[in-house]
Amino acid sequence: MNNSSLVARDLAVLWHPCTQMKDHDPRELENLPMIPVKSARGVWLEDFDGNRYLDAISSWWVNLFGHANPTINQALKDQLDTLEHVLLGGFTHETAVLLAEQLVAVTPPGLDKCFYADNGSSAVEIALKMSFHFWLNQGQPKKTRFITLENSYHGETLGALAVGDTPLYKKTYAPLLMEVITVPSPDCYYREPGESWEAYCIRRFADMENTLARHADSVCAVIVEPLVQCAGGMRMYHPVYLEMLREACTRYGVHLIADEIAVGFGRTGSLFACEQAAISPDFMCLSKGLTGGYLPLSAVLTTETVYRAFYDDYRNLTGFLHSHSYTGNALGCRAALATLDLFRQQDVLAGNRRLAASMANAAAGFADHPHVGEVRQTGMILAIELVKDKPAREAFPWRERRGLKVYRHALSQGVLLRPLGNVVYFMPPYVITEQEIALMIEVAWQGIQYAVRD
Ligand SMILES: *Cc1c(COP(=O)(O)O)cnc(C)c1O
Repeated sequence: MNNSSLVARDLAVLWHPCTQMKDHDPRELENLPMIPVKSARGVWLEDFDGNRYLDAISSWWVNLFGHANPTINQALKDQLDTLEHVLLGGFTHETAVLLAEQLVAVTPPGLDKCFYADNGSSAVEIALKMSFHFWLNQGQPKKTRFITLENSYHGETLGALAVGDTPLYKKTYAPLLMEVITVPSPDCYYREPGESWEAYCIRRFADMENTLARHADSVCAVIVEPLVQCAGGMRMYHPVYLEMLREACTRYGVHLIADEIAVGFGRTGSLFACEQAAISPDFMCLSKGLTGGYLPLSAVLTTETVYRAFYDDYRNLTGFLHSHSYTGNALGCRAALATLDLFRQQDVLAGNRRLAASMANAAAGFADHPHVGEVRQTGMILAIELVKDKPAREAFPWRERRGLKVYRHALSQGVLLRPLGNVVYFMPPYVITEQEIALMIEVAWQGIQYAVRD
């Protein structure tokens, strides 16, 4: 088995996510290489020809403590010999209970109930349905709408897609989607020169305040990605916006849904991004890093108040009759418990502060690059915005696919970067070393030099 033989078999039968498959056609001049991964360890992936790639994006933001992590591997082996899966309707198991106890303990105060699903989009669907259903059970059937931020991303299933605002993924399906109320984002890329992140976010909040004032009667919830709009190009904002949003949601009688699927579990410098604003949402959606990048699992944490609004005699039909076949899967829950163990065994957040500082140092030079409009960072996420014209901050036309050139070049140098359009970013596993950070940044620099030519 080598790379090309496996790729040929792949292209015969497999349809890949988020991909124009023609890009992989070997007969295309500008074709993209498909990388068949044979094995992985720590931050390194290895293909069938023996090439290695530094996983600088944590395999789409899921991996926290490296591939083939010994602690998680052992926990899964133990779980496998005990219980692989059992339905969670009418049954339970110790691993699911332990994980729910620990999630309730580590998430912000007031989030006391845990509902499982098996991927991030499903968690978002659950939060939306629960919020709507809560108001219905409270005798408020007119609350049917959701408020979302411009440039947000909450997943790909129809409900999650509807509350997102990434045109590339959403526009095609618009006729199928429920209507939402979209408010300008506090995305600090658009602040005025010299304006602080905080001042800009306070200013931007006026739009949210006005929208809530106008529509609160018909709105179930506001959904946000706390601090970083990841899929929207790693756009970042100040915690003050979350503080103001929490206060306003309470004042207007509207739920706050925090989608921490990408930013949870230490990515932004705190275990959860909401902690930086010292707020508790009404719903918190978790997935991605929840299992350390091992297995599909998600959880929606909510309050006792929400739970109580569904709790009644069966004949009143107020129950939340939502389920997924793999809800509370024992292997997924065990991987999540092992991940939380790793957070307890070492001071991961302190380690991340050091790594984040190294990333900042190593990437400092990018700010002066003639085609870099901004370098921004929140904890373990560092992003570089490529622009065509620096003073005007004019973006490269999307058709030029500059980010793809960075991707291709970095792969040839043994680093997996996967720019989002014109945004090159680093979101590495927490086990990356100083030398690996230096390599990742050096290769990104070369990749950018190559991509902005002509
Ligand atoms: C990835 C992501 C989702 C969707 O999760 P899936 O497991 O891919 O369905 C939702 N919200 C945010 C913020 C995400 O980054």
